[in-house]
Amino acid sequence: MDRPRITIFDTTLRDGEQSPGCSMNVQEKLRLARQLERLGVDVIEAGFPIASDGDFEAVQAISASVRRPVIAALARACPGDIERAFQALQNAERPRIHVFLATSDIHLKYKLRISREQCLEQARESVRRAKALCADVEFSPEDATRTDREFLCKVVEAVVGAGATTVNIPDTVGYTMPEEYARILRVLRETVPGIEKVTISTHCHNDLGLAVANSLAGVQAGARQVECTINGIGERAGNASLEEIVMAMRVRPDRYPYETGVLSEQIYPSSQMLADITRVPVQPNKAITGRNAFAHEAGIHQDGVLKNPLTYEIMTPQSVGVPDSKLVLGKHSGRHALAMRCEQLGHQFDRRELDDVYRKFVILADRIKKVQDSHLLELIQEVRSMRIPPASETTPFARVTSAVVGANHEIPPTPFPAAVTGAGSHGSLPVAFAEHHGEQEDYLWGV
Ligand SMILES: [Zn+2]
Repeated sequence: MDRPRITIFDTTLRDGEQSPGCSMNVQEKLRLARQLERLGVDVIEAGFPIASDGDFEAVQAISASVRRPVIAALARACPGDIERAFQALQNAERPRIHVFLATSDIHLKYKLRISREQCLEQARESVRRAKALCADVEFSPEDATRTDREFLCKVVEAVVGAGATTVNIPDTVGYTMPEEYARILRVLRETVPGIEKVTISTHCHNDLGLAVANSLAGVQAGARQVECTINGIGERAGNASLEEIVMAMRVRPDRYPYETGVLSEQIYPSSQMLADITRVPVQPNKAITGRNAFAHEAGIHQDGVLKNPLTYEIMTPQSVGVPDSKLVLGKHSGRHALAMRCEQLGHQFDRRELDDVYRKFVILADRIKKVQDSHLLELIQEVRSMRIPPASETTPFARVTSAVVGANHEIPPTPFPAAVTGAGSHGSLPVAFAEHHGEQEDYLWGV
């Protein structure tokens, strides 16, 4: 019953966003941050405010509107960065300043050009400075796994003394091995005075495909925070994948008897939303969230799964929010079913937006009988593109509805020529018909 609680620190918007092709604008970051809140992560690293005005604005916007999770902002170990980070966090309900400084000899010598003594002093001083602004301070000795062990202990002792509340041990270059990483954490826990007062955190990169294994080894060695990202995106080969860590603990509580606050049914919607925003598709064989993660191709497997899913499934698709492919969306599906499938695909709508999507859906369903997820995604994209606020609009997600929602609004060209813009008799479907459909809330899924 009393399983240790692991803090899930999501850095999709910071480390993840830094990866090639994954940059997001302020509104996209805000949309994803809201989904991360629904997913139940404990900490959202919202950005690196000194890095750009866009990053600053994103941290500011997320701080102002995402209230439950802790919002963290990254800063190098220097006054300008720390002040800028804190400024961006002004409106956060629970702000955290995350300060980092490289500690390995190779980084000190070639990148920072400072001595170990200077590094130690800069780490201590920057944590002290952050602490004067914010009670919640995290420190990361960058490239910790390639740092001289004795020196790493000294740095950690210094930042704990200066008031850090979380000490993160990054495997910045994805170099460590599970048992080695666990040993580093054990040495810290056994030798650093005061370490028991702080939370130890993991941050592992996937250059050798070991990010998740290393993170889990870290947890077994006493880490109580894991830094990770949706779909494992991040610098180079990526970061530890949130969904894999959470589901490893859920599927194997005998080996990993830990709790997280993650609502696993929101995993797939989060993954889909990220892919939708960045246009970076999920690798088909990606564990948990890939298209093939729950597909059974081999005949003998299919036979087994049909007799009893437990023959080949260690977790159900439903447990991670993957839509049940046996349930088909057709013209008799109601608004509720449509809204649910949209949500599973990473799209939340208010009532009026849903009306728009529903209207188009009914027209399409009438034509093609079985609406696939890919159709639905195109349709959603089309409705969303009709609603993009003008560039001068400053409020994120301002509702620009009057122009597009109206009883007789024109249906614009769509990617489904035959379905909507074709010359068929339903080309200009009477609204009354669509609304009649709208009342059929009770028709959920056609099987
Ligand atoms: Zn990283």
